[in-house]
Amino acid sequence: MIYDVIILGSGPAGLSAAIYAKRAMLNALMIDRNYIGGGQILNTYEVDNYPGLPGISGFDLGEKMSEHADKFGIEKVSTDISSIDILSEIKTVHTDEGDFQGKAIIIATGNSPKKLLVPGEEELTGMGVSYCATCDGAFFKGKTTAVVGGGDVAIEDAIFLSRGCEKVYLIHRRDELRGAKSLQEELFNTENIEVIFDTIVTSINGSDKVESITINNVKTNAIDTIPVNGVFLAVGNDPNTIALDDAKTNLETDERGYIKASEDCKTNIPGVFAAGDIRTKKLRQVVTAVADGANAIESLQEYLRK
Ligand code: NAP
Repeated sequence: MIYDVIILGSGPAGLSAAIYAKRAMLNALMIDRNYIGGGQILNTYEVDNYPGLPGISGFDLGEKMSEHADKFGIEKVSTDISSIDILSEIKTVHTDEGDFQGKAIIIATGNSPKKLLVPGEEELTGMGVSYCATCDGAFFKGKTTAVVGGGDVAIEDAIFLSRGCEKVYLIHRRDELRGAKSLQEELFNTENIEVIFDTIVTSINGSDKVESITINNVKTNAIDTIPVNGVFLAVGNDPNTIALDDAKTNLETDERGYIKASEDCKTNIPGVFAAGDIRTKKLRQVVTAVADGANAIESLQEYLRK
């Protein structure tokens, strides 16, 4: 069977593409390694900027979007994608569950947390080092934690952790945070959060669990060690393109590996579209991801008509 479209990824962009595809009567398949749709928002404590659903939890929003796609009968396969062939007119997705073919493909595989790449990070991952505060924060009730980063995720993580931890440090490499001003206001008004500016973490220390971090003030060059029980790294993301390695040699990407595509989601390969956080764009948010899903299906229908 050859599908009209195969959607890779079941985050907001993939789910929105699924809804638009099914409403356009396209024969669509969605492939994701996860059983539960929703992507990265599943790990977000609260999403307060998605119009119409103020303060909804990330998990609930992901679940609602998945149910919406299910309502239209999207066909889903949960499996790991090993590679994709995108150059022929019919595209093939190779997976652990076999090969799937489509006339067009939408890549909506999103991105994953970036590593800080400091000594101790890899060894202590799962033993106090985490990339997901909502997943692991509960283990640090009454303890001291540090969050590294200055974006929305770092600020949200610090606020979330402050509700259960005795003390939370937010460590940022510059003297100004990047995250939304409304979040910053909440951050600075939270008593048990201490923001440390102009500082980088140079190592995470401990033998079988995190015991401390070594920090370096980049302006004064002062070095210090802070005792902490947990370290939450929120220093941005890298695109999820591992399964696309062969395809990437043909797909145009930017220097960080994001697939080059504009609002119409068209890549340089005919019949291949990129939607959501995986494509080059200025603002990576749930609203921009769902918009991409709709735009990708619009461009894809134009391509199929031709
Ligand atoms: P981000 O906005 O890219 O921020 C990453 C932060 O980590 C920056 O402050 C950056 O510092 C810092 N950083 C990067 N590499 C570092 C390193 N090697 N060492 C120390 N610090 C480092 O990433 P994000 O917070 O994960 O957010 C990702 C996207 O999702 C953003 O577009 C964000 O707006 C969006 N998002 C939105 C919401 C919301 O609207 N509620 C919630 C979550 C995420 P510099 O500032 O110096 O570059």
